[in-house]
Amino acid sequence: MNKYKRLDKYYRRHNNSNKLPRKTKKLLLGRKLNKSKLRKRIASIKILTASLENGYSWSVPSECFCPYCGCDSARTGPMLAGYPEVYYYSYCLRCNRAVGCADNSQFIHFLCEILREERGL
Ligand SMILES: [Zn+2]
Repeated sequence: MNKYKRLDKYYRRHNNSNKLPRKTKKLLLGRKLNKSKLRKRIASIKILTASLENGYSWSVPSECFCPYCGCDSARTGPMLAGYPEVYYYSYCLRCNRAVGCADNSQFIHFLCEILREERGL
């Protein structure tokens, strides 16, 4: 069965219940990485530099995922400041911890900051 069909099946089955069932959660988020796999995944990340034409540049990880649980999915939180300020956090869908933020800047993933500390860059 392909992924879409499975999702559809679970959606229909649980359409009337309020709580997201564990099976659905597992299907959406996948398996949780164990600690050593998570550490290996973090170690395999490269920090890349993105830039704009005007010379402004910032760091982006080669892969984006939650540094605390390894989950690939994140949601963007509400704007925490009024226009024209840009200030928001992004949260992991599984553990709900902040995985990145933008504070009047491009979105900065916390993986970059963690790696920078670890590797002493
Ligand atoms: Zn997480």
